[in-house]
Amino acid sequence: MRLILITLCALTLNVSAFEHKEDTLTKKKGDNLYIKARPKKPSGPLMVTSLNSFVDSINSTIPDSMPFYDWITNDIHQKKFNFGDIKDTITISLNDSNDHYTPPVEGKITSEFGKRRSRYHYGTDIDLNTGDKVRSAFNGRVRISTYSKTYGHVVVVRHNNGLETLYAHLSKRKVKVDSILTSGTVIGLGGNTGRSYGSHLHFEVRYFDEALDPRDLISFEGGCTHFDTLAISQCNFMYREELKLMSAIKYHRIRSGNTLGHIARKYGTTINKLCRLNGISRNKILRIGQRLRVR
Ligand SMILES: [Zn+2]
Repeated sequence: MRLILITLCALTLNVSAFEHKEDTLTKKKGDNLYIKARPKKPSGPLMVTSLNSFVDSINSTIPDSMPFYDWITNDIHQKKFNFGDIKDTITISLNDSNDHYTPPVEGKITSEFGKRRSRYHYGTDIDLNTGDKVRSAFNGRVRISTYSKTYGHVVVVRHNNGLETLYAHLSKRKVKVDSILTSGTVIGLGGNTGRSYGSHLHFEVRYFDEALDPRDLISFEGGCTHFDTLAISQCNFMYREELKLMSAIKYHRIRSGNTLGHIARKYGTTINKLCRLNGISRNKILRIGQRLRVR
C-alpha cells in the first residue's frame, strides 16, 4: 500500500516538475557545476525530477535572510553560513504527506557528535557490519558520491527541506550524483573505508554546510524524529563556542634540544605559564615527542 502511495506521489510530483517554469542561471567553471536559482515562491510538492527545479524549490523554502544554496557536485563542503547572523528561527518540515524519516541503519551508537579528544566529531557513529544496507534518511537528491581520504566512500544527499545528510566509510556506493531518492533508498553498503577504525557509519546532518547534532532531530533509539518539524536557530550552533575554545588551545611537540625557555620564547609566553598550563615544575625533564600545551 505504502509503495503504491509513494508511486502515486512520485507521479504527481513529476507532473509538477514539468509544470515548474525553469528560469535558472547555470554556468560551468572548469569541472565545477554551479547552479544558482532565483528566489521563487514555492509551487506545489518539492520532490521534483528536474535538477534546476529541485535547486529552485530548495531555495524557495529558505528565508530571504539566507543566501542562495548552490548545487556543487564535486566539493563535499561548501562555504559555511554563519548562523550567528540569524536572529529568527527557521522551521523546516521533517515528516509530512510527501516525506518521512527512515533510519540510515539499525545499530548501536558508538560515538556521539561533539568534542572527541583534541578534535571535533561532526557526526554520529552507528555500528554496523560491512555490507549492511545504508539508507537515505529522507527524500532527496544525491549531491556527492565519491571517495575521500578521510570519509572513504561517501554520499551526500540534499533533502527537500534544505538539510543535507552525509554517509561515510561505506564499502560500496549504490547511487550516482543527481540521482533522485525517496526516503529509505539504499545509497550504499556499510564499511570501514577512509579514516575509520572498524566498520561503522559516520552520519552527519548539515544545513548550509553547518553541522547539526543529529540528535537535535533524531531519536536513534526510537528510530524516528523527535517532531515532524525542526526549528533551527542559533541554539543549534552553540557548539561553535566550544570549537573556538578548542582552537585557542595550542600544543608544541618536543624536539631534540628544546628547553622550556626556548619554547616560551617561541610562543611569546613565560616558563611559569608553561609550567602552570601543564602542571609541571621548571626542572621537569622534557622527552622528545612529548606534547606540551603552550596556550
Ligand atoms: Zn564519525
